[in-house]
Amino acid sequence: MEMITNQMPTAELQALDAAHHVHPFTNQDELTSKGARVIMRAKGVSLFDSEGVEILDAMAGLWCVNIGYGRGELADVAARQMRELPYYNTFFQTTHVPVIALSAKLAELAPGDLNHVFFGGSGSEANDTNLRLVRTYWAEKGKPEKKVVISRKNAYHGSTMAGASLGGMSGMHAQGGLPIPDVHHIDEPNWYAEGGDMSPDEFGLQRAQELEKAILEFGEDRVAAFIAEPIQGAGGVIVAPDTYWPEIQRICDKYEILLIVDEVICGFGRTGNWFGSQTLNIRPDIMTIAKGLSSGYAPIAASILSDEVAAVIGGTEFNHGYTYSGHPVAAAVALENLRILEEEKIVETVREDTGPYLQKKWKALADHPLVGEAKIVGMMGSIALTPNKETRAAFKADVGTIGFKCREHCFANNLIMRHVGDRMVISPPLVITKDEIDTLIERATKALDLTLQQIKDEGLY
Ligand code: PMP
Repeated sequence: MEMITNQMPTAELQALDAAHHVHPFTNQDELTSKGARVIMRAKGVSLFDSEGVEILDAMAGLWCVNIGYGRGELADVAARQMRELPYYNTFFQTTHVPVIALSAKLAELAPGDLNHVFFGGSGSEANDTNLRLVRTYWAEKGKPEKKVVISRKNAYHGSTMAGASLGGMSGMHAQGGLPIPDVHHIDEPNWYAEGGDMSPDEFGLQRAQELEKAILEFGEDRVAAFIAEPIQGAGGVIVAPDTYWPEIQRICDKYEILLIVDEVICGFGRTGNWFGSQTLNIRPDIMTIAKGLSSGYAPIAASILSDEVAAVIGGTEFNHGYTYSGHPVAAAVALENLRILEEEKIVETVREDTGPYLQKKWKALADHPLVGEAKIVGMMGSIALTPNKETRAAFKADVGTIGFKCREHCFANNLIMRHVGDRMVISPPLVITKDEIDTLIERATKALDLTLQQIKDEGLY
């Protein structure tokens, strides 16, 4: 076989890719006819494709490259660790220094008494752990019938059987016979799309009280936990009304339901604090972390457990674990990533300087004729596209049609911005500078202008 290298022409790379590589969340036939964009290298907030084009990555990969691309320190640490101890497991009463150091560091950073870390390789795996863990927790407490986990429609918690079941994506449930038993979904706190004539505060309260209703319907003795993202990410960066989280917290406390907060996107500075739970004043019993834990440089994730949860689980052998739980190279890389986030004051900068700068410019996009609302917390933002700003109406075309067109205009203008239905979302590397923020906003505005022009021309507006 011919050597496949960076020097190969793009078309040949695309043909080989289409022939042998099955892509996640992709219609493979469509991709084959179009050819995948081949990304060669990256630095800071920029990607460079096989044609040498520089692209501003306003999604930080998949919401994960918090410290930006190209930090050689992480490569050095990985190489050093691979030479010293490339692999050893943490089963059977063994451990190693990188996993000890990372666990202790996470216990220091995590709020409250979240002091105990169970590792996995991905956010999906960590949420699988959480599902088994909360059921085991209640069984250990002599209440094995407390099994039901309540989640929300349009939540994202991963792609494994448990992850996709906990998630509330109807398109995912439709494939593979999901959700698995004893997972229930209440409505999401998406005021813009579903709030009608209610005020956001009234609506937030009502949606939170759906949790109480569900608990009472199942019976308190059947419900193990509630799981939610502080801000729904893959669901379109949906920021709940202010009344929502305090009410959720009240309900979880009242009925002694474990609260699992999925911080896979919101963790590690994304919302201007180390964790979204701190920004929104939530007290989790269990937190899911991944992505920003290593800024995507190595696959690593975890569940962080409160003292109480860990103590209960500690009373039994939890028959659960992954070959790569606490992988030494991934753990060493994550530690170095945390060192950079901390020493370079990246979280503080998002909270106090570049975050507010981006927020001001992002919110101003709400003045664009195509934009019904602009939401942003820290450095995760969304805009809702609409044909009617006053009524927040949806387009006549199928959901996502206009969002997709806008995304294509972004791509053509060297900006990666994602669409979720007809919402456009951003989650740039946290190291983005003010100049780069200006470029992001200029390109986003241009994409909005071009989208508006196109849908007028096509009679879709
Ligand atoms: N939870 C949340 C909130 C996520 O956003 C994601 C990934 N987008 C996951 C879990 C799943 O993580 P992974 O893709 O690493 O399995």
